[in-house]
Amino acid sequence: MRTRELQKFEKKLLQRRQEVMREMGLLRESVAGATTKEATGDHSSHSFHMADQGTDHQEREQTFMFASKSKRCLYHIDEALRRIKDKTYGKCLTCGKPISMERLNALPHARFCIDCKEKEEQSGGPVKK
Ligand SMILES: [Zn+2]
Repeated sequence: MRTRELQKFEKKLLQRRQEVMREMGLLRESVAGATTKEATGDHSSHSFHMADQGTDHQEREQTFMFASKSKRCLYHIDEALRRIKDKTYGKCLTCGKPISMERLNALPHARFCIDCKEKEEQSGGPVKK
């Protein structure tokens, strides 16, 4: 891949990285807010809170899922940025063939070419080398 193209994808990845970081920052705020409310111990709403526990728990679970998804996303972005520096960016990690520009434009941190990705999805697990 040409340096100019690598720079373009690097910029894209850095932008995406900032977006994810911002999303995670917002999540931290909402989690901290919930903890503060609990710490103040509003007992008047205790019985109501008990009845509402199911929903509350579910919401927290979703927040956790979202946070770990963002973390994973961040990891893949960092890996892609590392591959740009290594000059291995844009190559499929499984077969070594170049990943199509179309695919990289849609998913800048893509690690596999579309063929390997499809195979992975069909087998239901990561592709073995
Ligand atoms: Zn491949």
